[in-house]
Amino acid sequence: MKEYTLPELPYEYSALEPHYSAQLLELHHGKHHAAYVTGANATLDKLAAAREQHNFEAINQLQKNLAFHVSGHVLHSLFWLNMSPKGGGTPPDELAAAVKESFGSLDGLKSQLTQAALNVQGSGWGAMGWEPVGQRLVVEQIYDHQGNIGNGTVPLLVLDMWEHAYYLQYKNVKADWVTAFWKIVNWQDVAQRFNKVRTLDLGL
Ligand code: MN
Repeated sequence: MKEYTLPELPYEYSALEPHYSAQLLELHHGKHHAAYVTGANATLDKLAAAREQHNFEAINQLQKNLAFHVSGHVLHSLFWLNMSPKGGGTPPDELAAAVKESFGSLDGLKSQLTQAALNVQGSGWGAMGWEPVGQRLVVEQIYDHQGNIGNGTVPLLVLDMWEHAYYLQYKNVKADWVTAFWKIVNWQDVAQRFNKVRTLDLGL
Protein backbone atom coordinates (compact mmCIF):
# COMPACT_ATOMS: atom_id res chain seq x y z
CA MET A 1 0.00 0.00 0.00
CA LYS A 2 1.21 3.49 -0.75
CA GLU A 3 2.41 5.82 1.93
CA TYR A 4 0.97 9.29 2.31
CA THR A 5 3.21 11.92 0.70
CA LEU A 6 3.31 15.70 0.77
CA PRO A 7 1.87 16.99 -2.52
CA GLU A 8 3.70 19.68 -4.47
CA LEU A 9 1.89 22.99 -4.68
CA PRO A 10 0.55 23.89 -8.15
CA TYR A 11 2.07 27.39 -7.75
CA GLU A 12 5.15 29.09 -6.28
CA TYR A 13 5.25 29.98 -2.60
CA SER A 14 5.06 33.67 -3.57
CA ALA A 15 2.18 33.21 -6.04
CA LEU A 16 -0.65 34.11 -3.66
CA GLU A 17 0.90 37.37 -2.45
CA PRO A 18 -0.17 39.83 -1.18
CA HIS A 19 -3.15 37.81 0.10
CA TYR A 20 -1.04 34.97 1.48
CA SER A 21 2.63 35.62 2.10
CA ALA A 22 5.37 33.37 0.73
CA GLN A 23 6.86 32.92 4.19
CA LEU A 24 3.52 31.86 5.65
CA LEU A 25 2.76 29.52 2.76
CA GLU A 26 6.18 27.87 2.91
CA LEU A 27 5.89 27.23 6.64
CA HIS A 28 2.30 26.07 6.39
CA HIS A 29 2.96 23.63 3.55
CA GLY A 30 6.53 22.59 4.25
CA LYS A 31 6.27 22.22 8.02
CA HIS A 32 2.66 21.96 9.20
CA HIS A 33 1.19 19.91 6.35
CA ALA A 34 4.33 17.79 6.24
CA ALA A 35 3.89 16.93 9.93
CA TYR A 36 0.42 15.50 9.26
CA VAL A 37 1.82 13.33 6.47
CA THR A 38 4.55 12.02 8.77
CA GLY A 39 2.02 11.53 11.57
CA ALA A 40 -0.40 9.58 9.37
CA ASN A 41 2.31 7.18 8.18
CA ALA A 42 3.74 6.75 11.70
CA THR A 43 0.28 5.99 13.11
CA LEU A 44 -0.39 3.35 10.44
CA ASP A 45 2.94 1.71 11.35
CA LYS A 46 2.01 1.69 15.03
CA LEU A 47 -1.40 0.19 14.29
CA ALA A 48 0.23 -2.54 12.21
CA ALA A 49 2.61 -3.31 15.09
CA ALA A 50 -0.30 -3.34 17.55
CA ARG A 51 -2.15 -5.90 15.40
CA GLU A 52 0.95 -8.02 15.00
CA GLN A 53 1.62 -8.10 18.73
CA HIS A 54 -2.05 -8.18 19.58
CA ASN A 55 -1.34 -5.30 21.94
CA PHE A 56 -4.18 -2.80 21.78
CA GLU A 57 -3.32 -0.95 24.97
CA ALA A 58 -2.96 2.34 23.04
CA ILE A 59 -5.86 1.77 20.67
CA ASN A 60 -7.88 4.86 21.61
CA GLN A 61 -4.95 7.21 21.15
CA LEU A 62 -3.92 5.53 17.89
CA GLN A 63 -7.41 5.75 16.40
CA LYS A 64 -7.62 9.40 17.35
CA ASN A 65 -4.19 10.08 15.87
CA LEU A 66 -5.16 8.33 12.64
CA ALA A 67 -8.30 10.45 12.24
CA PHE A 68 -6.39 13.64 13.12
CA HIS A 69 -3.39 13.16 10.84
CA VAL A 70 -5.19 11.68 7.84
CA SER A 71 -7.86 14.38 8.01
CA GLY A 72 -5.16 17.04 8.40
CA HIS A 73 -3.45 15.70 5.29
CA VAL A 74 -6.69 15.52 3.28
CA LEU A 75 -7.87 19.00 4.26
CA HIS A 76 -4.53 20.66 3.54
CA SER A 77 -4.19 18.87 0.18
CA LEU A 78 -7.62 20.26 -0.72
CA PHE A 79 -6.93 23.71 0.72
CA TRP A 80 -3.91 24.31 -1.58
CA LEU A 81 -5.99 23.44 -4.64
CA ASN A 82 -8.85 25.63 -3.41
CA MET A 83 -6.62 28.69 -3.82
CA SER A 84 -5.17 30.21 -6.97
CA PRO A 85 -3.27 33.35 -7.98
CA LYS A 86 -6.11 33.78 -10.50
CA GLY A 87 -8.84 33.13 -7.94
CA GLY A 88 -11.80 35.15 -6.76
CA GLY A 89 -14.89 36.02 -8.74
CA THR A 90 -17.88 33.72 -8.94
CA PRO A 91 -18.44 29.97 -9.45
CA PRO A 92 -19.07 28.44 -12.88
CA ASP A 93 -22.70 27.81 -13.92
CA GLU A 94 -23.52 24.34 -12.54
CA LEU A 95 -21.89 25.00 -9.19
CA ALA A 96 -23.49 28.44 -9.06
CA ALA A 97 -26.92 26.82 -9.52
CA ALA A 98 -26.28 24.33 -6.71
CA VAL A 99 -25.03 27.11 -4.43
CA LYS A 100 -28.19 29.07 -5.14
CA GLU A 101 -30.38 26.06 -4.41
CA SER A 102 -28.61 25.20 -1.14
CA PHE A 103 -27.84 28.67 0.23
CA GLY A 104 -30.20 31.04 -1.59
CA SER A 105 -27.34 32.90 -3.25
CA LEU A 106 -23.56 33.10 -3.44
CA ASP A 107 -23.70 35.77 -0.74
CA GLY A 108 -25.70 33.36 1.41
CA LEU A 109 -22.94 30.76 1.13
CA LYS A 110 -20.15 33.29 1.65
CA SER A 111 -21.72 34.84 4.73
CA GLN A 112 -22.52 31.48 6.34
CA LEU A 113 -19.07 30.04 5.61
CA THR A 114 -17.37 33.26 6.76
CA GLN A 115 -19.24 33.18 10.07
CA ALA A 116 -18.66 29.44 10.54
CA ALA A 117 -14.94 30.05 9.98
CA LEU A 118 -14.60 33.14 12.17
CA ASN A 119 -16.45 31.55 15.06
CA VAL A 120 -14.48 28.31 15.27
CA GLN A 121 -13.67 27.77 18.94
CA GLY A 122 -10.04 26.71 19.22
CA SER A 123 -8.49 25.17 16.12
CA GLY A 124 -10.51 24.20 13.08
CA TRP A 125 -11.83 24.93 9.63
CA GLY A 126 -14.80 26.35 7.80
CA ALA A 127 -15.89 24.08 4.95
CA MET A 128 -18.44 23.56 2.24
CA GLY A 129 -19.16 19.98 1.23
CA TRP A 130 -21.54 17.81 -0.75
CA GLU A 131 -23.96 15.79 1.36
CA PRO A 132 -24.89 12.87 -0.90
CA VAL A 133 -27.93 11.53 0.97
CA GLY A 134 -29.85 14.82 0.92
CA GLN A 135 -28.17 15.82 -2.38
CA ARG A 136 -27.22 19.25 -1.16
CA LEU A 137 -24.26 21.47 -0.42
CA VAL A 138 -23.71 22.13 3.28
CA VAL A 139 -21.44 24.36 5.33
CA GLU A 140 -19.57 22.64 8.13
CA GLN A 141 -17.51 23.92 11.02
CA ILE A 142 -14.72 21.41 11.59
CA TYR A 143 -13.08 21.08 15.02
CA ASP A 144 -9.37 20.29 14.76
CA HIS A 145 -9.31 18.40 11.44
CA GLN A 146 -11.94 15.76 12.05
CA GLY A 147 -14.60 16.77 14.56
CA ASN A 148 -18.16 17.98 14.09
CA ILE A 149 -18.53 16.72 10.53
CA GLY A 150 -21.35 14.76 8.95
CA ASN A 151 -20.38 11.26 7.87
CA GLY A 152 -20.61 10.82 4.10
CA THR A 153 -20.20 14.53 3.39
CA VAL A 154 -17.36 15.19 0.98
CA PRO A 155 -15.41 18.42 1.55
CA LEU A 156 -15.11 20.60 -1.56
CA LEU A 157 -13.99 24.00 -0.26
CA VAL A 158 -12.05 24.41 2.97
CA LEU A 159 -10.76 27.41 4.85
CA ASP A 160 -8.02 26.84 7.42
CA MET A 161 -8.71 28.76 10.63
CA TRP A 162 -5.92 27.29 12.76
CA GLU A 163 -3.72 30.10 14.08
CA HIS A 164 -0.81 28.63 12.10
CA ALA A 165 -2.79 29.41 8.95
CA TYR A 166 -2.87 33.18 9.37
CA TYR A 167 -1.16 34.51 12.49
CA LEU A 168 2.24 35.26 10.94
CA GLN A 169 0.58 37.62 8.44
CA TYR A 170 -2.76 38.66 9.92
CA LYS A 171 -2.01 38.46 13.67
CA ASN A 172 -5.28 38.39 15.63
CA VAL A 173 -7.35 40.01 12.84
CA LYS A 174 -8.68 36.79 11.40
CA ALA A 175 -11.52 38.55 9.57
CA ASP A 176 -8.88 40.04 7.26
CA TRP A 177 -7.60 36.55 6.50
CA VAL A 178 -11.10 35.40 5.53
CA THR A 179 -11.58 38.50 3.34
CA ALA A 180 -8.27 37.74 1.62
CA PHE A 181 -9.25 34.09 1.13
CA TRP A 182 -12.33 35.06 -0.90
CA LYS A 183 -10.00 36.97 -3.27
CA ILE A 184 -7.93 33.88 -4.03
CA VAL A 185 -10.60 31.16 -3.85
CA ASN A 186 -10.35 28.86 -6.86
CA TRP A 187 -13.98 28.30 -7.92
CA GLN A 188 -12.85 26.31 -10.96
CA ASP A 189 -11.23 23.76 -8.67
CA VAL A 190 -14.29 23.61 -6.40
CA ALA A 191 -16.56 23.15 -9.45
CA GLN A 192 -14.39 20.41 -10.90
CA ARG A 193 -14.56 18.39 -7.66
CA PHE A 194 -18.27 19.12 -7.29
CA ASN A 195 -18.87 17.60 -10.73
CA LYS A 196 -16.97 14.47 -9.68
CA VAL A 197 -18.85 13.89 -6.42
CA ARG A 198 -22.39 15.03 -7.20
CA THR A 199 -23.22 11.57 -8.59
CA LEU A 200 -21.86 9.80 -5.49
CA ASP A 201 -24.41 7.19 -4.40
CA LEU A 202 -24.04 5.75 -0.90
CA GLY A 203 -26.95 3.38 -1.54
CA LEU A 204 -28.90 4.94 1.31
MN1 MN B 1 -3.15 24.34 8.43
